[in-house]
Amino acid sequence: MTALLEVEDLRVAYGKIEAVKGISFTVDAGEVVTLIGTNGAGKTTTLRTLSGLLQPVSGDIRFDGQSLKKIPAHKIVSLGLAHSPEGRHIFPRMTIEDNLRLGAFLRNDKDGIEKDIRRAYELFPILGERSKQAAGTLSGGEQQMLAMGRALMSRPKLLMLDEPSMGLSPIMMQKIMATIKELKDQGTTILLIEQNAQAALSLADHAHVMEVGKIVLSGSGQDLLHDESVRKAYLGED
Ligand code: ATP
Repeated sequence: MTALLEVEDLRVAYGKIEAVKGISFTVDAGEVVTLIGTNGAGKTTTLRTLSGLLQPVSGDIRFDGQSLKKIPAHKIVSLGLAHSPEGRHIFPRMTIEDNLRLGAFLRNDKDGIEKDIRRAYELFPILGERSKQAAGTLSGGEQQMLAMGRALMSRPKLLMLDEPSMGLSPIMMQKIMATIKELKDQGTTILLIEQNAQAALSLADHAHVMEVGKIVLSGSGQDLLHDESVRKAYLGED
């Protein structure tokens, strides 16, 4: 079986600064794969390149059997790759429901869209309770839920989440992680970037540690959770 996503020797630069220096990894359908690593390791750059927002210097990205090179970002969404970006990017003056609907902008199946809005409200009840309110009135964690709900509205084959727990209280973070677990259990394929290595490794099937643009260690989430070097560097142990 070929992987849903295959990243091969990917290099990405901002001018002369090489931020991603030849990384390779795959994501199989139904898996949660996580990229962990400190600030500046190149994780966000990798996701932005997969989404078509940045062009690679070299390497290849194959998604669902097709090379994504030179395919524009909006077309990549329609192929089934959704991105919930770092910093959320919701539209604060629009209602919560309209923000969700934006995630379905490439779909025409009205009934399916209504069903998925109901599903988003089941997944995140607070969004349903406040559906007619401006999205800017939500707390940071609730806005994160909205960003995830909106990404799901495109019915993605692969959901990419960039730092979903960033800036959240411990309780809100647990809620977000529990939701990611629920999505995984429902069969959603997820590529997750997280600063919180403990939480990410606990639910990942496969994990890669990135340092200054390279993957320096790979393994199952459980293996890396118990790896001594990972524990020292990322889980705050001596
Ligand atoms: P973070 O968790 O802080 O987002 P990251 O692992 O996602 O970290 P990136 O944001 O991908 O890392 O950054 C990788 C490198 O590229 C860093 O050295 C960063 O300073 C640099 N970089 C990121 N964005 C730009 C940009 N727009 N122009 C120039 N350099 C950039």
